[in-house]
Amino acid sequence: MCLFCEIAKKNIPSTCVYEDEQVFVFNDINPKAETHMLVIPKEHIDNVAGITPENSAVVSHIFEVIAKLTKEMGLTDYKVISNCGEGAGQTVFHLHFHVLGGKGLDKAFV
Ligand code: 5GP
Ligand code: ZN
Repeated sequence: MCLFCEIAKKNIPSTCVYEDEQVFVFNDINPKAETHMLVIPKEHIDNVAGITPENSAVVSHIFEVIAKLTKEMGLTDYKVISNCGEGAGQTVFHLHFHVLGGKGLDKAFV
């Protein structure tokens, strides 16, 4: 099982921000801005290239969760980034969306 599958199953500890049946949200271990959350589907998908008509519903749900959580946190300005492939900087091959906001956002690069 991959690292983020283990985190979603709570076999590996993380700072959970939000969870429901489909998604798990936790703080990045190496934050690049004041707020740096990772939003992942509980179902394993390698990366954006692995999104298909059969599994894409979770992606719209992920963006609904991002909109809701950031509003609750009072975050109006933020970046949502997903690296696809090693050449793009992907290091964990389980689809994830970085949500970056707050102090340091101007210099945040993931
Ligand atoms: P990527 O480089 O694949 O776009 O992003 C992977 C992210 O996962 C990195 O920002 C990295 O800091 C984070 N990360 C890697 N291992 C762990 C971990 O064990 N726990 C948490 N919370 N984040 C991790
Ligand atoms: Zn996985």
